[in-house]
Amino acid sequence: IRLSPARVIAQFSHSYTVMTEEGPHTASVAGKFEFLASKRSDYPAVGDWVWTEALPNEARSVIHAVLPRRTAMIRKAAGSAVEEQVVGANLDYLFIVNALNQDFNLRKIERYLILGWESGAQPVVLLTKSDLCPQPEAFAEQVRELSPGVPVHVVSALTEQGKESLNPYLGQGITIGITGSSGVGKSTLLNWLAGEPLQHTQDIREDDARGRHTTTHRELFLLGNGALVMDTPGMRELQLWEAHDGWQQAFADIEQLAAECRFRDCRHEHEAGCAVHAALAEGTIDPKRLANYHKTAKELAYQARKERSAA
Ligand code: GDP
Ligand code: ZN
Repeated sequence: IRLSPARVIAQFSHSYTVMTEEGPHTASVAGKFEFLASKRSDYPAVGDWVWTEALPNEARSVIHAVLPRRTAMIRKAAGSAVEEQVVGANLDYLFIVNALNQDFNLRKIERYLILGWESGAQPVVLLTKSDLCPQPEAFAEQVRELSPGVPVHVVSALTEQGKESLNPYLGQGITIGITGSSGVGKSTLLNWLAGEPLQHTQDIREDDARGRHTTTHRELFLLGNGALVMDTPGMRELQLWEAHDGWQQAFADIEQLAAECRFRDCRHEHEAGCAVHAALAEGTIDPKRLANYHKTAKELAYQARKERSAA
């Protein structure tokens, strides 16, 4: 068989759309996946590069293999690594969207940052609806303090503020995930970046026994300048509380100090020989940041307990 590289641009419950050299093809996985795949994440996901075999005389392909992923956003499954699902593969950037109105929430941004770091994509925070906020830069500054190494941009789809600041991310072949709670302006932002309402990739439909219908699950959209964007699920769906590596990166400064604590299981509350508290006394870490750390740790522990008792 002759195999060609293609990219998965949409995923439905039983089929995929892949972008091949000949244009979009409807695709399904080769039968061998059934006995070669040992976990859900072995199956193709949106953003994956795959090896495909084109079927003669039809815009259809069979997916034979998934190429190694550079980055992956993963939906954890309580207590089951086998059921972990990839919801966005090979993302270069993760745009974390939060609005500059009463919904502005530093704690939420912090939690989304954990997801970003964990995925391997570079997180970028976008503060939208700047037209509703008299001092957007003051809020941007708060986010910058919270998240060293993360670019923060103030934008408005209404006044077009900050549009140029996003150009550096929108290069040819760059893949971007967009995440954030509902109502923060993600779809408005997508249409604004595209310069027009986003069109579904042509002929995205799914075959099933009852006939053809459209059920878009996840989809990569091509912007005019050659960048690809996808709406990725929010943290409720991704079950953040399982994502411990990302959490350690989001609080890298505190985790680094923690290595010096006298007790290995130090929780940096009132323990003797706590290096984090020593740094606090010296003024090298912000008490607000430590409070955030404790709040997040408690939340993660609580959610993990809830998950376990539900499982
Ligand atoms: P999504 O749920 O995150 O996709 O949010 P939407 O894009 O649907 O936007 C939610 C609401 O916010 C809509 O009523 C939008 O018109 C509004 N909105 C989006 N962007 C802006 C903005 O930059 N400024 C203002 N004032 N409203 C906005
Ligand atoms: Zn400590």
